Amino acid sequence: MISTSAVDSYVEKNSSRFVDDLMELCTFPSISNHGLDAVKPARDWVAGRLARFTDRVETMEAGGMPALYAEVRGAGKRKLLLYEHYDVQPVDPLDLWESKPFEPVQKDGKLYARGVADDKADVMARIHALETLKSLGELPVTLRFFVEGEEEIGSKSFEKIAHAHAEKLRADGCLWESGGFDSAGRPTMFFGARGLLYVQLRVRLLDYDQHSGFASLYPSAAAYLIAALASLRDQDMNIRIEGFYDDMVKATDADRRMLAKIDPEVEERYEKLRKWRKERAEARKVEVQVIAPNAVLMAVARGAPRTLEELGRVEGMDPFRLQQYGDEILTALHSATQQQLL
Ligand SMILES: [Zn+2]
Repeated sequence: MISTSAVDSYVEKNSSRFVDDLMELCTFPSISNHGLDAVKPARDWVAGRLARFTDRVETMEAGGMPALYAEVRGAGKRKLLLYEHYDVQPVDPLDLWESKPFEPVQKDGKLYARGVADDKADVMARIHALETLKSLGELPVTLRFFVEGEEEIGSKSFEKIAHAHAEKLRADGCLWESGGFDSAGRPTMFFGARGLLYVQLRVRLLDYDQHSGFASLYPSAAAYLIAALASLRDQDMNIRIEGFYDDMVKATDADRRMLAKIDPEVEERYEKLRKWRKERAEARKVEVQVIAPNAVLMAVARGAPRTLEELGRVEGMDPFRLQQYGDEILTALHSATQQQLL
């Protein structure tokens, strides 16, 4: 058994090299939105790092950005799958950056670069954890790394890859990307992660351009589009699509007791967060930019719970219901635009 103090001192001794590694990974502009060539250098680099500490590394692909898979055998029977991604979000608008997105800088003990928190720090932390454990003794469990390359564009081929390599990805548990600490410095857990849904909606009303002087006579596609989007929520931000909340499992007394045990101020904290968000929005410090219609719709489809009461438990929720939500959203949008036209 490897002692935690041995781990601590190994990490302490190697921490600046660990940070340097992370900074190096952050120099790769692996924006999946920019295509295959954009993500390859980062993938090759991560594959090289994985190869140092695992038994084998392979590439898995199904038409999109290839993912990396690596395995390292441990002493015990159990297997743990580690999910990460090496791709990042685009960097626009560039003028809002205080430093260059792919030239990592350290400020006040924090590292700034595109993708450092989501998800390159996790990629490196886990490789470094593996290095640490292997240097100090034997791994207690078998580790399976899955590092995908298109998380930021909706993991388009993930399902195909998962089906094709189901045996390799099988594990007793899966450690997802990300994680953090609350204001009291305790590690946090997330409930109600739902996945995402992109919808692209086009409204076309006229065959050719019209002079603005005719604005009162001709219908405006932009106005219809706005009305359709607005129809999805009421003033309190409830989603108006019928049945949208039907599958939401409310927190039971046992859930609440368990939450209160972990964090006695959980309700208060949640309430504070809601208030803070509201104040920020009211003070107009939050600037909402409609970059593309799908960005707005994505936020709608996420349907985040607004109170602790609504924290849906994952069990009993059907992930494929998301597909249905998509169809319902499209139907609602369609009827909203239709109504405007009548
Ligand atoms: Zn991520």
